[in-house]
Amino acid sequence: MNKLIIFDLDGTLAESKQPITTEMAELVAKILTKTRVAVISGGALSQFLKQVVAMLPMDANLANLYLLPTSGAALYEFHTSTSLSAGNNWKKIYEERLSEKEAHTIETMMRAVAEETGVINFREQSWGERIEYRGSQVSMSALGQQAPVALKKAWDPNHTKRRMLQTHIVERLPQFEVRYGGLTTIDVTKHGIDKAYGIHKLCERLGIAETDTLYVGDELESGGNDEAVYKTSVQTKSVASPSDTERLIESLLTAS
Ligand SMILES: [Mg+2]
Repeated sequence: MNKLIIFDLDGTLAESKQPITTEMAELVAKILTKTRVAVISGGALSQFLKQVVAMLPMDANLANLYLLPTSGAALYEFHTSTSLSAGNNWKKIYEERLSEKEAHTIETMMRAVAEETGVINFREQSWGERIEYRGSQVSMSALGQQAPVALKKAWDPNHTKRRMLQTHIVERLPQFEVRYGGLTTIDVTKHGIDKAYGIHKLCERLGIAETDTLYVGDELESGGNDEAVYKTSVQTKSVASPSDTERLIESLLTAS
């Protein structure tokens, strides 16, 4: 068993923005008794708590769980006895925050590019907010944050719309990191922040060699949102869906 296993969230542990299944929750709880586990994704911490933590069994070994929201721009660890307010046992280890001014600049550029390319029409109704400031990241979701998964999957199956948005936003905002996140999302963070950054920081903090670490993701192919992981020395395992990930966890548990 690897000393650390890092999972992508959407498309890997769960369907886009959906909670993990009961079966997945049980498997994650099992693997948490054997090794350290991290989850990294473009979502905000609140999303991780809803999609993953809230679904885990009450006795899950959260001390072995690490959360890297906003693509690794922040890291949270579980602390049981701290002076933190009740219900918030997740301690921030670092966060590469964007200032409100930077967030405003990014939002303005996102709107301009959406309009210019015609890829997103802000006058059309959306499912929740399209642009969200997540402290260390600004995210633009074409159909809105709460859009149904089926619509999201159908929106940009071959990545062309996201690639077009990304290319145009990078031109306007070379001082930031611009990448595509989920099925309909463009994420902007401080320059140099990506999943590789988060993995470097976590491995360093835990004193675990990257070569002893396994990364599991559904978009490891070129241009996919797990691709940055290849800048690290971690081992990788590509999965096609959350049920594929369940089978992988089962085989890791059997082999250990
Ligand atoms: Mg994914």
